[in-house]
Amino acid sequence: MNKKLFIPGPVDVRPEILQAMSTPMIGHRSKDATILQQNISKNIQKLFYTKNPILLSSSSGTGLMEGSIRSLTAQRAVVFSVGAFGDRWHTLAQSNNIPVDHVTVEWGNPTMAETVDKYLSTGKYDVFTVTHNETSTGLMNPVKEIAEVRKKYPDVLWLVDAVSSMAGVKIEVDKLGIDVCITSTQKAIGLPPGLSICSVSENALEHAKLVKNRGTYFDLLELYKYVVKKPFQYPSTPSLPHMFALNKQLEYILNEEGQDNRYARHIEMAKITRNWVAENGFEMFPKAGFESNTVSAIKNTRGISVAELNKKIGELGYVISNGYGNLKEKTFRIAHIADRRVSELEELLSILTETIKTL
Ligand SMILES: *Cc1c(COP(=O)(O)O)cnc(C)c1O
Repeated sequence: MNKKLFIPGPVDVRPEILQAMSTPMIGHRSKDATILQQNISKNIQKLFYTKNPILLSSSSGTGLMEGSIRSLTAQRAVVFSVGAFGDRWHTLAQSNNIPVDHVTVEWGNPTMAETVDKYLSTGKYDVFTVTHNETSTGLMNPVKEIAEVRKKYPDVLWLVDAVSSMAGVKIEVDKLGIDVCITSTQKAIGLPPGLSICSVSENALEHAKLVKNRGTYFDLLELYKYVVKKPFQYPSTPSLPHMFALNKQLEYILNEEGQDNRYARHIEMAKITRNWVAENGFEMFPKAGFESNTVSAIKNTRGISVAELNKKIGELGYVISNGYGNLKEKTFRIAHIADRRVSELEELLSILTETIKTL
């Protein structure tokens, strides 16, 4: 049975989009492919609120995370991590021999602007990374405050993981001054997994020239050169099915649903979930004020068996996520993301209420 996915990716994909995935192939060096990419780029710029060039990578988001930290760190990177996906930046840097410092918090807490200020003021770094929405802890970081302190250090490149929030939460890349903003298709955008997207600033592209070993497949400069020189093409064969689908979904997000409506729907779903949490004797996991609008991480204060709960709701055609890693059974997560409708979330929550009574 197909289960309705309330997990933070992959997400359920609209039937029209699944259909667009099976569009007959075109040559990836053809004029049609160029037009397709130009269209996608133009609309991604709108989605990201940026004038920066857009790069696509036929990989999941981790590919561009690795590519960006590797192609842009000439000196030393500092990773501000608030959970498992923040830690991933650190692993990626270390495994690529990139000098890196790892700043962590107790899970559930955010990256505070003062902390960023303290580290950047040392002058040791040319790159710093922040997770916009930490999926393991259901937390959104205060990027506006971070953007404020970062203004003192315009030359330190700012890399943001917006994998589980872009297109569900308004992230104004240029206003915030983000140099590289990364997302992938299987989260708030509402596509199948397999393509990742980033915007990259001119500053970052200039800085990349100082880095000797940028790799090949994920080298941002290499990707960019093709976009410019062979207008809107890529060094290797991109996932055309994803591009057909992304093109269609962007038209939907921008022109049918509308960006502001989409963000409002995510806020509404997050609020409904938080109310359910309070009414049912649970608590939110992240520190108050930092709860995510796309994925709610909930403390299992009632000590229910999350595995059992998921098994039972699975029989009814629904699935949620257990806690991440060490938080398994201590927390559980409900994703309200992408094209999920408010009514579908309400359905799930009432099923959860009833099922929990039977545990
Ligand atoms: C899912 C996720 C990733 C990893 O993305 P992939 O597309 O699976 O590589 C990174 N960061 C966050 C915050 C995520 O939620």
